[in-house]
Formats: sequence, C-alpha cells, structure tokens
Amino acid sequence: MFRLELLPAQYGDAIWIEYGAGRKVSRVLVDGGTEASFPALRERILALPANQRHFELLVVTHVDADHIGGTVELLREREALGVSFGEIWFNGYVHLSAGGVVPTRESPDILGPEQGEQLTELIVGADPRKWNAVVGGGALVVPPTGPLQPLVRLPGGMQLTLLSPGQEQLDRLKPVWDSACRKAGITPGAATAADSERLGEVGTRGEESDLLGDPDVVQLASAPFVPDRARPNGSSIALLAEYGGRRVLLGADAYAAVLGASLARLPEAAGGRIAVDAVKLAHHGSSGNTSSELVRALKCRNWLVSTSGQQFGHPDQEAIARLIRDGGSGVGLVFNYRSEFNEVWASAGLRRKYGYTASYPAAGTAGVGFDVGRAKR
Ligand SMILES: [Zn+2]
Repeated sequence: MFRLELLPAQYGDAIWIEYGAGRKVSRVLVDGGTEASFPALRERILALPANQRHFELLVVTHVDADHIGGTVELLREREALGVSFGEIWFNGYVHLSAGGVVPTRESPDILGPEQGEQLTELIVGADPRKWNAVVGGGALVVPPTGPLQPLVRLPGGMQLTLLSPGQEQLDRLKPVWDSACRKAGITPGAATAADSERLGEVGTRGEESDLLGDPDVVQLASAPFVPDRARPNGSSIALLAEYGGRRVLLGADAYAAVLGASLARLPEAAGGRIAVDAVKLAHHGSSGNTSSELVRALKCRNWLVSTSGQQFGHPDQEAIARLIRDGGSGVGLVFNYRSEFNEVWASAGLRRKYGYTASYPAAGTAGVGFDVGRAKR
C-alpha cells in the first residue's frame, strides 16, 4: 500500500503519505499547510487511533507560510495530539552556512538572527537529536556531483532521494532568512508589503489566451518559461519517494532547473524519460516551476496539484498546458480543490482533443487521496 493525500491546505501543501504491507502502516508528513488550514490536519490526525499517531518523518520543505504555518501549529499541539516523529527534516538558519549542524538544546545561540524563530525552537524543544538526523544534524542538500542515491530507507521500507535544494539555493537564502521567517508569521510583527513583494510567491500568471471558451493549450504551453526566483522556494526540500516498486516526485516549491538537474543524475537517467507514478507539481502549479523541459524529462501519467487558488491564483494555465502538451499520452490531472483557476481543465472539448483526464474533489469538499500503488502507468 502506498497512498498520498493532498489535504486541504488552502494555497499550501500538507501531504499525508501512507505506505506499508499488511496491517502495518507507516506515515510521512510533508508540510503542514497554512496556519488557517491547520484544523484539517488536526482532524486528520485525530481520525487515527491514539496509538497510531506516529510519523516516521516530518518534512518541512521550506520557510514559506503556506508550508510552515500549519507545521508550527502541529508542533505546538504535538503533545496534546499525542503525535510523535521518528525524524524531522528542515533546513534551519544554522544550515545555511556550509558545515552548520543542529545545535544542542543547551547551546546558547540555537536561534537564527530573529529570536522568535519558533519552528527551530519547537523542533529543538521536541528533541534536537531527531532534527536532520539522517545527515548527522547537518544540512539536507543535494551533493554537488555524482549519481544520486537514496538518502534513507525509513522504517517500513520507504526510500527517499533528495532532489533539491543544492548548496547554491541555501547560500542564496541566507540573506533573506529573517524576512522569510517574518513572512511565515514566525516572528512577532507582520511582514511588510515590500517583503512580500520581494520574497513572495510572485504570481507569474500570463494573459488568458481565450477569455471566452477553452484556453489555447498549444499557445499557453509555448509561452516563454520565466523561472521562479523566490529564494525560499529555491531552498525547498524536494524528494523522490519510493516504495514497493512505485515512486512519486514530491516537488515542494522547488525550481524546475534544480529538479531537472537532479533527475538527470539518477542512475537510470541515461535511458530517456524518468518513470514516476505521480508528481506533486512544484509550487502549486506555478508557471515558473513547471517547464516543458522538466515535463519531458519525466514519464508520468499522474500530476497532482495542491492549491485552492487562493492568494496566488495557482495553478497557472501555462503549467497545466505544458503537462497536457508535453506529458505524453494519457495525462491525468488531480486537483485537491475545485476552483475558478482549475475548473477550465474539466472542459469535455479539451479532454477529448488532448486525451487527458481531470479529477476534482466532490462538490463542496476539498482534499484528495491518490493511490500510488494502483496508479495507471
Ligand atoms: Zn508554497
């Protein structure tokens, strides 16, 4: 069994992963969504019997509010919810300098430059030995050269290979760390509009190609690719998760070029497209994170999009058009919300013309489950 759930996380990610054989189920959580969406995650946790509220791993992909907001809430309520983690992956301020490692609880300067860095505090408070333990408390960073191998085999048998970030993306984050934390609401005081503008998940929505009727897929897919430059996004921990002969690319909000470069370093990359059973699109289907080049590097039929469209109007039509045009035959789109920004892809005319499928949560609901183990190939 290998399942994903894209929990309703507003414009963020909260990806609940279950895998295992027989009755033994292991769990991994990738991000906690926004602070406001935390009740959905809490509810999902409470639906588990109290003795099963354990995650082999919690991944906090990067410091943006739509990934970290709910995670902070989760760690705050950890004891009350009876939740435990085998390990927590998060690149904190300490990891932004080469060679930096997780401090001990007693260390005098455990925090970054902003003293209210609550996530760090919460992780250290929970158990600093669990923080990035797989790399001895150091940074989770893609090695500079050589073929990429799985970084870990979790209890229960899931293997994870790190695809992002590289050292360059961590280096570039350091100067903006303070602001990124403010934006995430981790420190007292709201981020200024200027901070948001400078750092934000800047929408790169292009012009609608056809305001009446279906969009022009070919024209949209041909729009020039303008890569995402938001530094917190670049620092995203992106993973290839493998279990039982199936695998999923968890793109976080990573850069397309970083993902592409890492995919090319997988041992089987010489054989053409890299086969994966599903991709969680990077950055909620923003046009700046899904290039045609990246789509063509993959052999995948199932493309998962996590966003309500709130705030940034994701997914961008250019990104979805690239999947439809460049993703090979039988592309399937899976959305965890139905919104004014994605319902255009339900068009029967478009689906017929391009031979793809689009699935949405039932009316009035949000969040979606995806069975990786039984996914179409
Ligand atoms: Zn995001």
